[in-house]
Amino acid sequence: MKNHCVLVTDLQIRRYVLPSDFSKIPTLILRALWLTRTLKKNQWLSEQELRALQTKKLRALLRHAYSRVPFYHQRFRSIGLYPDDIKGVEDLGRLPIITKDDVERAGTQIVADNIDLKKSFKTHTSGTMGHPLRVYYDPRYLDHITASSRRYRSVLGRKSWEKTAVVRFSDSDSKGEAGQGIAKRTCHSFRRNYSRNYYISYSANDIAKELVDFQPDVLFGRPIYLRLLAEEFRRTGYKISPRLVLSRGDVLDHSNRKFIETTLGCDVYDSYGGNDAGPIAWECLEKDGYHMEADMTICEFLKGEENANPKEVSDIVVTNLNNYAMPLIRYRSGDKGSYRSGMCACGRTLPILESVEGREKEFLAARNGERLSPKTLQEIAYRNKSLPPMFQIFHERDHISIHVYGEDVSDGSISDLKAKFSDVFGETDVVKHKENAKANMRFFLNKAS
Ligand SMILES: [Zn+2]
Repeated sequence: MKNHCVLVTDLQIRRYVLPSDFSKIPTLILRALWLTRTLKKNQWLSEQELRALQTKKLRALLRHAYSRVPFYHQRFRSIGLYPDDIKGVEDLGRLPIITKDDVERAGTQIVADNIDLKKSFKTHTSGTMGHPLRVYYDPRYLDHITASSRRYRSVLGRKSWEKTAVVRFSDSDSKGEAGQGIAKRTCHSFRRNYSRNYYISYSANDIAKELVDFQPDVLFGRPIYLRLLAEEFRRTGYKISPRLVLSRGDVLDHSNRKFIETTLGCDVYDSYGGNDAGPIAWECLEKDGYHMEADMTICEFLKGEENANPKEVSDIVVTNLNNYAMPLIRYRSGDKGSYRSGMCACGRTLPILESVEGREKEFLAARNGERLSPKTLQEIAYRNKSLPPMFQIFHERDHISIHVYGEDVSDGSISDLKAKFSDVFGETDVVKHKENAKANMRFFLNKAS
């Protein structure tokens, strides 16, 4: 899933600062404040109240999807289902599950016919595991994303004056130019005082130097970017002192989290979501699982068609309750994870996503037949507290090899990595690359899938 959250600031500016009709600004801001307040209250609702809210929103969404979205109209008709047949969340299982391929094939048939596509916001998934998927958000859904982001800011105690640095990937050498037009340039210049984007295209060293100059209070990025930067800070002795590091957009395993935390001297908080399904879950200050934003998205954990048990790694299937432009109802995210019952020590009632294990396509079979998640494979590499070099796992035609990156990689760390993965997969080759790892790499590359 592509990191949805880096979009939030851009969305807020487009929606609240640069609307085509300036007279709408007060209404939009009031609505944003009201929604944020509502979402903040929702995190303390009782289980029954949360369920009732989900049911109300689900039924409204289904009526809309049936009457306005040709894809769902045909699907529901083909199985003789009418929206009112679904009385509540407990009936969700009666609806068909859809996949990314279904959405791709449907094209604009899965977009509501009463939505003006010109006014909708267009984005796409990253496409790291296939084609990028075009996604449309209606303007009101943008308000929900903004409110969700503001709720999460308050959970972490973030203040509006804190300086934030967002580390992103770009194929170009772009440093985040302002773009055309006075309004955009003014916004850009104002934003640079408190929020900057860093494009980690080639050199982590350049970014590290610029971060020292900026001294952000909050640092955002995908785990691999944060790890690369943390290594650079260790190597060079450069120092930044963020209050928080926020990881998003990929699996964050325990060891990488610890590495980043000890290097930068602050806590790392992870969140989960995607441009297709929207924001889904985040860690509170307890860092004991992720609170699912159940007032915005219904998450199901399925083994095949059946509901999984707590703590059982299963398919994450999501229903986005707010995006009426392109409803995703029982959408198989392609990710695997588990949930657990019980309350978080923080007292919030939003249910707990215990763990995000990674993409289903990146699970690899061990020689004992067990399928290992990307998260488990990362944990294996870091077992016995050793710090492995940056590496990737290649899987081609039943053959697994480990590629390690960096000039200073010691023979000891290579043989340690080889021994750990040979133990799991049988004899495993290690391919050494002198160049450093690139920031667009994933920890795992499963070429056979
Ligand atoms: Zn909590």
